Amino acid sequence: MATSKHRTPVKLADTKILRREDITPELLLMWIEKPHDFTFKAGQYCTLGVGGIERAYSISSAPHELDIELFVELVPPPDGNITPLIWELNEGDTLTIRPRAKGIFTFKPKMQNQLLVATVTGIVPYISFLRDYLYRCQTGHHFYVLQGASYQDEFTYLDELQTLANEHPEIITYVPTVSRPSERQNDGWDGETGRVNNIVEKHIDAFNLSSENTIVYACGHPEMIEDVKDKLVPGGFKVDEERFWKQD
Ligand SMILES: Cc1cc2nc3c(=O)[nH]c(=O)nc-3n(C[C@H](O)[C@H](O)[C@H](O)COP(=O)(O)OP(=O)(O)OC[C@H]3O[C@@H](n4cnc5c(N)ncnc54)[C@H](O)[C@@H]3O)c2cc1C
Repeated sequence: MATSKHRTPVKLADTKILRREDITPELLLMWIEKPHDFTFKAGQYCTLGVGGIERAYSISSAPHELDIELFVELVPPPDGNITPLIWELNEGDTLTIRPRAKGIFTFKPKMQNQLLVATVTGIVPYISFLRDYLYRCQTGHHFYVLQGASYQDEFTYLDELQTLANEHPEIITYVPTVSRPSERQNDGWDGETGRVNNIVEKHIDAFNLSSENTIVYACGHPEMIEDVKDKLVPGGFKVDEERFWKQD
């Protein structure tokens, strides 16, 4: 006899926007209410909905924090679907959230060295890793964070990461890099330059990292991730990845 499987519809909760901070016209930080029984591991994502459209968003807050913090990039119309709707929302407005966080892009403690590579919003899971690691007073690992962006004003967590790196130099090293150093928006930038995938090998050498003692994480732009894998996997590095969208 044939059996039919019925899927129980997912029960969506409403969550309120508690605070919104516009960083640039295309980047915002948003804090939303954490539903009563919502739990997650550092690095996981939640599924949010607006107007019946749902998308995944990694969580930058750590699990112990009261609210869910998000860092979102606008994909302008006509390509973007949910993000133009999110941009219309203000404090007090509601979105839906699925009851469970998901994802396996989480901190893997086996290797002493943790090389975290990101483009712009791809920094989100690493913020959660670091806040959680420090909150738990863990030691014994070193997180080398390499973040790429076109422009310096896209490094939303720059102050936090530089402060943490200064306070915990044995645990955190942060290297932001701009890919368009000669453009006016980057006037005054005196940090690293070049695409993050093009500076990763140089920094592996400078930090004296090897495939025996280092796990690499790559998060954000799919082309960056592909290139990092092409460069590092042949040398024996294990690369964990989280692609924020599909390559065309
Ligand atoms: C596990 C996971 C975690 C994610 N976490 C975040 C996060 O923390 N912050 C965040 O901003 N986004 C994150 N995303 C992407 C997010 O889910 C949406 O895809 C994104 O916000 C765009 O939604 P949209 O509905 O406006 O456009 P979509 O309908 O999703 O995409 C429209 C088109 O734009 C492309 N696209 C999607 N995103 C981008 C982009 N950023 N730049 C250029 N092209 C893009 C898509 O491939 C598609 O062709 C995550 C995705 C995944 C899978």
